[in-house]
Amino acid sequence: MLRIGHGYDLHRLGPERALWLGGVRIPTADGYGLIGHSDADVLLHAIIDAVLGSVALGDIGQWFPDTDPAYLGADSKQFLRRVLEDERLRNWRLQNLDCTIIAERPKLAPHIPAIRDSLAALFQVPIFCISVKAKTNEGMDATGRREAIAAWAVLLAETQPV
Ligand code: MG
Repeated sequence: MLRIGHGYDLHRLGPERALWLGGVRIPTADGYGLIGHSDADVLLHAIIDAVLGSVALGDIGQWFPDTDPAYLGADSKQFLRRVLEDERLRNWRLQNLDCTIIAERPKLAPHIPAIRDSLAALFQVPIFCISVKAKTNEGMDATGRREAIAAWAVLLAETQPV
């Protein structure tokens, strides 16, 4: 059966933090990165929620609570790997993933190929299955003021009932 999954996430930006997007470390001139309990990879978090949504298995906060010291500074790639390795996703296979990152700065266009490569490797699918787009918010709202970066993800997967 085919299943749609949808995910959204937002993290605040702050100084002296690394900026991780889709499992890729993005260099920043001012040292601003995303704030969170884990590595705060907002794109991977939206994608993980889309994966979980496609099989109605809750959300990232239920799987990896941000109150759990075990996840302090955690690599979000490990979160996605653990979800994909779950017994209930044994027959789950990604057909395509389409993502939008909303960030005023840094300009993400030069990093899109590396992010797509990273996601294709995590899902073990060809690169044409992975779409990543970046937009600004035209200076509006928290993302436009560079107070936060947000991400949306939608995917289609083939699976069997769990
Ligand atoms: Mg998050």
